[in-house]
Amino acid sequence: MRCPICKSPVDESQAGKPGNYFPFCSERCKLIDLGRWLGGKYQIPVVEKDESDKVPGDDYTDDYDH
Ligand SMILES: [Zn+2]
Repeated sequence: MRCPICKSPVDESQAGKPGNYFPFCSERCKLIDLGRWLGGKYQIPVVEKDESDKVPGDDYTDDYDH
């Protein structure tokens, strides 16, 4: 078979052996695939937590304007 990333020939007989990255031809291609998978399904935005210090009660003062 061929590597899903770079289409290089992959020796299936080596699958499961230590140091083998089946179905990828190399660690590099395995990481590329992993990166794609993470980027597509696991896109976790980096959220700054500065606003956690804000007191929710501050907004209640707006009710007096009604
Ligand atoms: Zn490859």
